[in-house]
Amino acid sequence: MSQAPAFDRRAAAAAADAKLGEALRFTTGRLQAGRAAALAELPDADALRDHARRVRAHTLRHLGRYLDQFAVQVEALGGTVHWATTAADAVAVVVEIATRRAARLVVKSKSMLSEEIELNHALEQAGIRVVETDLGEFIVQLARDRPSHIITPIVHWTREDVAVLFRQRLGAAEQDVADIPAMTAFARRLLRREFLAADIGVSGVNFGVASTGSIVTVTNEGNGRLTTTTPPLHVALMGIERIVPTVDDLEVMLRLLARSATGQKLSVYTNIVTGPRRDGEVDGPRELHVVLVDNGRSTLLAGELAEILYCIRCGACLNICPVYQRVGGHTYDSVYPGPLGSVLTPGLHGLAAAPDLPQASTLCGACRDVCPVRIDIPRMLVALRTSSVQQGLGPGWIRLGVKAHAWLASRPRAYRAALRAVGVASAPLARQGWMARLPWPLSGWTAHRDFPAPARRPFSALWAERRRAR
Ligand code: SF4
Repeated sequence: MSQAPAFDRRAAAAAADAKLGEALRFTTGRLQAGRAAALAELPDADALRDHARRVRAHTLRHLGRYLDQFAVQVEALGGTVHWATTAADAVAVVVEIATRRAARLVVKSKSMLSEEIELNHALEQAGIRVVETDLGEFIVQLARDRPSHIITPIVHWTREDVAVLFRQRLGAAEQDVADIPAMTAFARRLLRREFLAADIGVSGVNFGVASTGSIVTVTNEGNGRLTTTTPPLHVALMGIERIVPTVDDLEVMLRLLARSATGQKLSVYTNIVTGPRRDGEVDGPRELHVVLVDNGRSTLLAGELAEILYCIRCGACLNICPVYQRVGGHTYDSVYPGPLGSVLTPGLHGLAAAPDLPQASTLCGACRDVCPVRIDIPRMLVALRTSSVQQGLGPGWIRLGVKAHAWLASRPRAYRAALRAVGVASAPLARQGWMARLPWPLSGWTAHRDFPAPARRPFSALWAERRRAR
């Protein structure tokens, strides 16, 4: 994790950025509308989501068995499986494969896991050039930026920003950046040369099918297919939770993934790789390596945050989240932003690495409502907040406040007296039941919205009065 300023300072800067706000509103609004329309067309959407949740729960309960089955199938097809406990192990495997082949150029399709383990940096340190081939990731790499959404990495960029970048960094002519199709065609011409020259293609994995040993990548650009088929060697990076038992289970996930992500029935390319090139075939990689990455997932699976591993990375929870919509992905300072990341990042790396993220939510529950596998993100955020207080990681004033409340709540007389005192003391600040300004530390709240004024007579007093009157 970087030493960037804390979430609230980054959030304030992002919320004040009008251009970012406009870009976020446009893209998240479009994706939300697409999702709603696509799911409304499905006659069995709710039942399908329930079924998908059961499949994910079952798979993770029997993860060891399905991973073993998957590994046996991949190796029976001629592939090689590597087990990586940590990010460093996973990176070492890929670097070793690349250096053994004296690779000079790696092309990559989009993989959040490769961001999580910081693969590009390690390959570059080993003298290997890495080219991102997903258009958004290509732009991010060119600009030395970071993705800010798990589906649309350049949600924070405008068309004009990309045109300037292409002119400055790639020498694009005016006709190359005249509109989005021209820019796409320009990038495609550049990338095609890289695909043909690459020694290795590195891809992520949306799903691994245990019964067949297949690797499934879901993309909207042909780059995923070119990455996994054109270079002579394919390395697939797969988080251990990305397994599904059978092709039937895969179908359930595919019916939900694109609909929840972009509103498409299916993404443009659903690429299913089952083993490397076979004897007699004329194309496809001669070598296939699947790197199964744990990096904290086993520990997560054993705890109260295990449910976050059901995630199929659709991004719907980001698009609906009122916090993400206002501040965008960079504010989370995490590979996985939004509600998903607010659980997954502390889950994988520990609360101390991301103490702010569980607070970055209104707990409105919208993320749970749109999640195709009905992950109860708010429940886990509350659990993380509890752990944060227990571990002494929250702000000092919250810890003191919780202690003071616990002390008062166990002393009814003192509690009632305190409530009456707050009601009387706050009366001069209240207007029509609301307070517009509060002193620090509550001023953070009233900087953006009013606070309901405490009742002058607390509920306990009214209740006692009513009982006496009976
Ligand atoms: S948590 Fe649910 S809504 Fe969010 S990305 Fe994962 S599957 Fe999609």
